[in-house]
Amino acid sequence: MNIKVPKKIKICAHTYDTKFILNLILDDRTDAMVHHRLGYIGVDSTRTGTMRDEAYLHEVFEIINRLWNCQLEHDNMDRLAEGFLVFLQELGITLDWSEIEDA
Ligand SMILES: [Zn+2]
Repeated sequence: MNIKVPKKIKICAHTYDTKFILNLILDDRTDAMVHHRLGYIGVDSTRTGTMRDEAYLHEVFEIINRLWNCQLEHDNMDRLAEGFLVFLQELGITLDWSEIEDA
């Protein structure tokens, strides 16, 4: 089953857009990022497959960590993202990026 990655996602009281950013890895040495003030998750547009999925989920956990003040260390958001991606895969769920556009 495919689940569409939403263009906008509301987490707590805040709404974040999701968009592809060209050359994010080259420019900022990260495959994804979250900008809280401007309210968006950016994912490098050259990333594909499970690496892209994990990077996106990592940023979702970054938002949760900040908004709920969970005080998780950064590596733990990688672990949570990886674990949640495996959970989705075991349920037969894949992320569909077809509605996400370039910044
Ligand atoms: Zn991070």
